[in-house]
Amino acid sequence: MSEPVKSITTPARCDYTFTVSGKAARFLEEIKQGRILGVRCSNCHKVYVPGKGTCAMCGIEMNDEVFVKDTGTVTTYCVVRVPSENIELELPYVAAHIVLDGADIPFFALVQEIPADDVRMGMRVQAVWAPKEEWDITLGNIRYFKPLDEPDVPFDDFKEHL
Ligand SMILES: [Zn+2]
Repeated sequence: MSEPVKSITTPARCDYTFTVSGKAARFLEEIKQGRILGVRCSNCHKVYVPGKGTCAMCGIEMNDEVFVKDTGTVTTYCVVRVPSENIELELPYVAAHIVLDGADIPFFALVQEIPADDVRMGMRVQAVWAPKEEWDITLGNIRYFKPLDEPDVPFDDFKEHL
């Protein structure tokens, strides 16, 4: 009798082309110009960045485009201390939810130019853009966010954006 097979390793690969349309396409067109486009719900007035077709709270289509600033507030974050094959950042680094000024739904981005252990909820930050000649239809135009020399935002002022 041979030993039972307990596991197998099978390499797998999946190539695909992602074609954007609608709100995602509009967002990418604007980010190529250095502008951050959101969309506002006509019912609850929340601004989503990047925009999406339907408000998650109200279930209605959103068409009111609004530009938001490249400054914002860290709402939550995590300090990453585990290496990943596809990420070439020096450990530890911080991945944060940032609610941009003028938006209501946090935006996910890196926070750098500050020791990871000094990042905090309520910290004010600003986008660091790639050089303009490198801008393309990608969120990669924003390399990361850096601290702003501004007082932290009190928890009660951003808790609704968590
Ligand atoms: Zn809504």
